[in-house]
Amino acid sequence: MTSTETSSGTGNQPAGDCLFCKIVAGELPADVVASTERIVAFRDIDPKAPVHVLVVPREHHGDVSVLAAADPELLAEVVEVADRVAHDLADGQYRFIFNSGPRAGQSVFHVHGHVIAGAQLGWSPA
Ligand code: 5GP
Ligand code: ZN
Repeated sequence: MTSTETSSGTGNQPAGDCLFCKIVAGELPADVVASTERIVAFRDIDPKAPVHVLVVPREHHGDVSVLAAADPELLAEVVEVADRVAHDLADGQYRFIFNSGPRAGQSVFHVHGHVIAGAQLGWSPA
């Protein structure tokens, strides 16, 4: 095990049971709305807004800071895809959220940004 690898796959080595690695591999179904060589975007199974899409790098990284350190170009591409999704599925105005750590609400430890759009969004701290 390397210094960045843990049993929950928080480095760039996934745990064998990573949910989003399985979706990326096509082993589990998802409602895919955008796809590139390095990124897949699919609808959240429990949407919190009319448009709620998860933008997920195909490569496993535990959270956004790990991704930023490992591959800043890929993080920039994640933002590009999020913007495209918000324009394609809504009016181009959106919130883009990365939860980092369980206390911040992260439940899947494969980096993903939530594109929240399609409604007037109120401020919600949690
Ligand atoms: P987090 O809480 O880690 O920031 O976000 C994980 C998100 O993944 C949650 O919003 C949750 O609803 C979503 N999710 C969990 N399991 C699945 C699944 O099997 N398919 C899809 N499309 N979304 C999922
Ligand atoms: Zn993964």
